Amino acid sequence: MRAELIAVGTELLLGNIANTDAQIISEKLSALGITVHHHTVVGDNPERLAEALETARKRADIIITTGGLGPTYDDLTKQTICKTFGRELELHEDILEEIKTWFETKLGRKMTDNNIQQAMLPVNCTVFDNPVGTAPGCAFEEGGVHVLMLPGPPYECRYMFENRARQYLEKLTDGVIVSHELRIFGKGESEVEAALHEPMTRLSNPTLAPYAKTNECLVRATAKAETREKAEEMLRPLMDEVKEILGDVVYGVDVNSIEEVVSGLLRERGLTLSAAESCTGGLIAKRMTDLAGASQVFRGGVVCYTNDVKAGVLGVDRALLEEYGAVSEPVARAMAEGCRKICGSDLAVSVTGVAGPDSDERGTPVGTVYIALAWEKETICRQLSCGKGRGRDRVRTAAAQNAFDMIRRRLLGLAM
Ligand code: ATP
Ligand code: MG
Repeated sequence: MRAELIAVGTELLLGNIANTDAQIISEKLSALGITVHHHTVVGDNPERLAEALETARKRADIIITTGGLGPTYDDLTKQTICKTFGRELELHEDILEEIKTWFETKLGRKMTDNNIQQAMLPVNCTVFDNPVGTAPGCAFEEGGVHVLMLPGPPYECRYMFENRARQYLEKLTDGVIVSHELRIFGKGESEVEAALHEPMTRLSNPTLAPYAKTNECLVRATAKAETREKAEEMLRPLMDEVKEILGDVVYGVDVNSIEEVVSGLLRERGLTLSAAESCTGGLIAKRMTDLAGASQVFRGGVVCYTNDVKAGVLGVDRALLEEYGAVSEPVARAMAEGCRKICGSDLAVSVTGVAGPDSDERGTPVGTVYIALAWEKETICRQLSCGKGRGRDRVRTAAAQNAFDMIRRRLLGLAM
């Protein structure tokens, strides 16, 4: 099955907003084993949308549009699609009732006449009702081409894909598609691809595909079979093989983030963490506290951006700061040890580095980062070069990512 996405909206062409709907849907389609061949963006213009639809129906089995389902005069997607595919629109009383209720209960006002347009849907279509907004979506098949219409607002688009369109698409592909994601830190996408070259070229079902993400990468293993159990059975040995090849850089399977893994490990062991952060400015604390139930494993932290705070709050010896500078191994070690003491945690991590754009007064190059980890028995420290030449944000996110990996390795007793 080949799919084409058509995003409708002049705002997208003006650059006012990014086409994030296409990103969301593409990612989900590839996990379903549906190949996306084209992304098209057209303005709120019926002639150009009709042109895009004519092109798409010649080269795709599935066309998914986003946007233009609303009640205003520029919302023309449904009308244009119906014209192009030779379908009439008809009023769906039940949808109209739902829209009315949504207005009265959620928005506290009466719907206007132009909302009736939203309850007009193609004859003989599958309706995707919209419990998180007003505009319903829908789908139909014409001449072997499936056309799906989803609303533009990203939350509604994502919801409708997950809870309505997915079932429709799953019926089109016989069998089920199951995929698992192995998350990797410490090896780049090309290195991973090279390491997995043999299984990747040997296999057609299940398949393996590496993807680059910010500061890390992932490998998606996908299998298609008649049942979920069979697909899982096909994936099991493959996942083991990939883990065997890549080793301990695989930090998790089907997890959301490395901090989630760290948090789980701390919880299992009944340990707590704190963080002394200079160049990451609280990013580690933020990422830990983004997780529900963080207080059980994360005690707190100090953003110690200046020498005064490093010395005054964390108790870093001023002589160390003067002799070695703030971005140095002895200071990183003292920060972690001080933080552990004042926060009363089992482990403490510290980060001090040069985020840029300029190097520090001692000429330490941008991207130089020291990360220390203190626990009861000892303190270890690593010097890294993080995200150099890619801006402050990249240095900071890479430093935080490395800090989490160091904690993970320590908790699992892996080599640093
Ligand atoms: P509504 O009922 O809100 O009018 P709609 O289906 O008519 O929904 P549009 O009017 O095209 O959708 O877009 C509504 C909003 O959704 C836009 O202002 C924009 O913020 C967001 N949006 C639309 N298309 C996209 C897209 N492809 N990617 C990201 N955001 C989008
Ligand atoms: Mg609209």
